[in-house]
Amino acid sequence: MILGLLKEQGTETRVALLPETVKSLIDLKTEVLVEVSAGENAFAPDSAYVEAGAKIVQRDTIFEKAEVLLQIQPPDNDSIDKISPDQVWISAFNPLWETEIVKQFLSKNITSFSLDSIPRTTKAQSMDILSSMATVAGYKAVLEAGLRLPVFFPMFMTAAGTVRPANVLILGAGVAGLQATATARRLGAQVYVFDVRSAVKEEVLSLGGKFVEVEGAVEDKEAGGYAVEQTQEYKARQKEAIDAQALKSDVIICTALIPGKKAPLLISKETVNKMKPGSIIIDLAASSGGNCELTEDNKVITHNKITIIGQSNYPAITPLDASRMFGKNVFNFLKLILSEEGELNLNFNDEIVKGTCITHRGEVFNERVKSLTKNN
Ligand code: NAD
Repeated sequence: MILGLLKEQGTETRVALLPETVKSLIDLKTEVLVEVSAGENAFAPDSAYVEAGAKIVQRDTIFEKAEVLLQIQPPDNDSIDKISPDQVWISAFNPLWETEIVKQFLSKNITSFSLDSIPRTTKAQSMDILSSMATVAGYKAVLEAGLRLPVFFPMFMTAAGTVRPANVLILGAGVAGLQATATARRLGAQVYVFDVRSAVKEEVLSLGGKFVEVEGAVEDKEAGGYAVEQTQEYKARQKEAIDAQALKSDVIICTALIPGKKAPLLISKETVNKMKPGSIIIDLAASSGGNCELTEDNKVITHNKITIIGQSNYPAITPLDASRMFGKNVFNFLKLILSEEGELNLNFNDEIVKGTCITHRGEVFNERVKSLTKNN
């Protein structure tokens, strides 16, 4: 197989494979072409890729020669124009939300895999980029809040008096929320966590967080461990509980998501208006609409002396470890589409390969994406 590693466009700083992982792929008889300075912003120079056994080439050469095209971010229009139907595109393009890209792949007969669609099964855990990147995001969000906050995270007993610990509220206790809980606890804050899935309560408590209870949530066993839309009555009770906690909080970290849907709105403008001046809201759900009514994606705004940070891509400001984790996940996935002789082998009988494939030969493969593109 000839794999082409593309340089990310725009502000992305990560790279889909670091040289250490390129070497492991070459050991599996894969030829790797790397676009000039692909790893530059992740502190991986071209020379390190060459040392690992890859060839450094121009972008167009990758589109001419590679069988598999790999990057992290969705393709831009220029890239889509250059992909041919006999090539395989692999990146993370959020097909449940970005249905336009799916339509472009379909109309051009492109075989595409979206790594954010890897099934959340035990076997696929080592390929789960969502978990890896959520780990980075949860950690970094807390550090950013700590730096911007006008008060300390931990309690201090000093000669100048006692400083009380900060109150942190975390909305959503998935991978990012739990990592944020652990990080904020390590920094000494009081951490309150809310999620509609009662199953996470034990995990929150084991990390030293306090669980904000709201009874009557709808949970769907068929949703594969994910949250589902809630009733109006529950939403009203939830709003009351979150509001009460928000007013006492110095930091709110929003991580609540529902796959394929707009992120649930949990913090209204009215609530922000009543929060303590100097408080910080970090909204990791910003690119899916945000959990806070005032969030603007990729922007830092100030409203009534509350700072609201709409940031969904903290991994891009932690490029080295984020690339390392992403690359290991990709490597484990690529092994599934490689034969022992190092040839490309798309085995659609494999549940992970089938579930991650979004389009192939003019058809939508992934069942959940299929129902969305039909409805649009
Ligand atoms: P996610 O990013 O989809 O959502 C983040 C959190 O937001 C979830 O915990 C969700 O319950 C919560 N949420 C949604 N709506 C909410 C609302 N209205 N109010 C409050 N919270 C709300 O979640 P994720 O981190 O990707 O994890 C989702 C599930 O997948 C979890 O059960 C996790 O254990 C599971 N998982 C499985 C694997 C695996 O087996 N490979 C790997 C990672 C995660």
